[in-house]
Amino acid sequence: MDREAAHSRIIELRAILEENSRRYYVDNAPTMSDYEYDQLMHELEALEADFPEFASADSPAAKVGSDLEKGREFVQRAHRYPMLSLSNTYSIQEVEEFSARADKALGSSSFTYCCELKFDGTAICLTYKKGRLVQALTRGDGVVGDDVTENARRISNIPQVLHGDYPEEFEIRGEVLMPYAAFDRLNELRVLDDEQPFANPRNAASGSLKLMNPDEVAQRGLWCTLYHIPAQSLDFESHDQALRAAASWGLPVADSRRICRNIDEIKDFIDYWDVHRKELPYATDGVVIKINEMAFQRELGYTAKSPRWAVAYKFKAEQALTPILSIDYQVGRTGAITPVANLEPVLLSGTMVKRATLVNEDQIRALDIHEGDYVYVEKGGEIIPKITAVEPLRRKPGAKVPEFPRVCPDCGTPLVREEDEAKWFCPNSDGCPMQIKGELLHFTGRKAMDILAGEATIGQLYSLGLAKTPADLYDLTPRQLTSLEGWKEKSALRFIASLDKSRAVPFERVLFALGIRFVGETTARTVARYFGSIDALAAAGEDDLKNVPDVGEVCAKSIYGYFRDPVHLEEIDRLKAHGLNFSVEQPSASASDALSGKTIVISGTFSISRDDMKALIEKHGGKNSGSVSSKTSFLLSGSKPGPEKIRKCEELGVPVVDEASFLAMLPADAPAIPQAESVEQLSLF
Ligand code: NAD
Repeated sequence: MDREAAHSRIIELRAILEENSRRYYVDNAPTMSDYEYDQLMHELEALEADFPEFASADSPAAKVGSDLEKGREFVQRAHRYPMLSLSNTYSIQEVEEFSARADKALGSSSFTYCCELKFDGTAICLTYKKGRLVQALTRGDGVVGDDVTENARRISNIPQVLHGDYPEEFEIRGEVLMPYAAFDRLNELRVLDDEQPFANPRNAASGSLKLMNPDEVAQRGLWCTLYHIPAQSLDFESHDQALRAAASWGLPVADSRRICRNIDEIKDFIDYWDVHRKELPYATDGVVIKINEMAFQRELGYTAKSPRWAVAYKFKAEQALTPILSIDYQVGRTGAITPVANLEPVLLSGTMVKRATLVNEDQIRALDIHEGDYVYVEKGGEIIPKITAVEPLRRKPGAKVPEFPRVCPDCGTPLVREEDEAKWFCPNSDGCPMQIKGELLHFTGRKAMDILAGEATIGQLYSLGLAKTPADLYDLTPRQLTSLEGWKEKSALRFIASLDKSRAVPFERVLFALGIRFVGETTARTVARYFGSIDALAAAGEDDLKNVPDVGEVCAKSIYGYFRDPVHLEEIDRLKAHGLNFSVEQPSASASDALSGKTIVISGTFSISRDDMKALIEKHGGKNSGSVSSKTSFLLSGSKPGPEKIRKCEELGVPVVDEASFLAMLPADAPAIPQAESVEQLSLF
């Protein structure tokens, strides 16, 4: 590859990897398989090695993927020692090369390998002082992590207090996992609540560890396994010795590790676990091979991203072979048509797979899919299963190539495919039922208006003609809802309460909720902040829009076009009349700066929900924090506050304030409780 081509591929790969890293670490909703991601990362690493003039410390090849969530309320703290990733490979040959490199670097010295399972969860760093858990940080970007101490305290097998001969102070790292059983239970509940189920236990573990309510974390059934004491934190001769000591202090250390002396023993360990990991109650995605002796670890050192003394061998995604029963053509909210294969159900990575995406028409052709074909399905630690290949030997004679529809399967409108699009689209955006329902679902989604309405509710309201646009939802009354099949007083009140609450959703999320094509969460945020209000945005020309950082030509055209459609303008007027936020700064009449400059930690239960209490604090200029520190202004204590938090307040001399005294701090004319947030306050008729 020539220099110029290499440069543009490097830029392209960085953009793809950055975007997918955000989806994986921040949104917990990957759309690419780990294997694909790793192959692209390896391609970038190779190109940066061949063309070092283009290498950069900012490149995803040189830094740890970050899960720091901007705008979230966790306090972020610096790691004492960087928390790095691991270099990884899917090839035994590369493990052999790792071992050969270690042999060469360490000369004739006798060293051993500690082989361990690679647990598929989210990393955590615990600090114990005087035998007590004092801090838990996520990996974050490797340098700074989110302080999730209160949440870690609710993970049942993380000890709060150690026993035995533990050192005065040390750090220990490991993984927070969600066992399959807890994962299935959680997803069942989410489906019942009309919430999007988690794609896999890793995402569920990572999402749960970052919940703002520690009580909710306690119910998620998380589990922790520890596997690393940084050499700088405690001095041991070997890694294995450090882990034995940690186990003797009562810490949860997996005993599935083995000391191996050579590559053959490493291969035996890998072969054994490739089979037996399927019997484990939690997910693993490989084996980690570490040089065991600390002196040799120190000698080999680190790159900016990972230790040179360890490598992860990753298992390839499990595959299953099963026949296609039929193909559905789904219409998304943007009108894009996605073919989805209905499969003979088959067990894969612990879950029953019944459907798999075929992506688009070109993919059906590229895989050479015929009706009734046996296909290989993969679920590489993620997402919607994917069909990767067909088994031609099992094709029935005379099997036909499926006919991709030329009209919308839902509304019958002829489909269109633009030159630069990979998908066919139904252009009937304002009349196609699937698109309208998709738009409504997008609007009510958690990242948008967070209204308690899933697929079933939206389907019902739409089919009865009660909701065709988002504004229709706000016209619904409890009386109307309770007259519908399946609605009880409580569900109607909860739904209306969530609609009321959505009026406080900030403009940037309202803009995202409108579902303007190419305006995702990030673009909505940038655009909202840039223009400040929907009126200013609607008045912007295409060139003004292109001036906004991150808004390209296609996106600018789409936003401009959206506001030229009178149907959209009318809808916005209706939503405005319903009191939704259409500007960035909308100081509410009751806001005050009574709590300005105060950092407040809340604990226990109050007369309003904890979320509402936090909103109230912010409304009056205060800042919420998850854990007590010397910077905490006071602890706002409800009934049954956390004993650890109270103890910490006593230790640091932080005042503890009860709800009544807190409310007395607010101006007398400010409503203490945000409007209609609690179901009990609403009456049906
Ligand atoms: P990683 O998950 O490949 O390996 C490093 C991590 O392994 C450590 O941080 C630690 O949390 C964990 N680990 C588990 N068991 C361990 C043990 N016994 N000893 C030491 N560490 C252990 O690396 P990563 O940096 O967390 O994530 C990068 C990987 O994430 C990529 O290789 C890719 O597979 C995946 N990823 C996927 C996407 C996607 O879109 N699918 C996007 C970003 C990242």
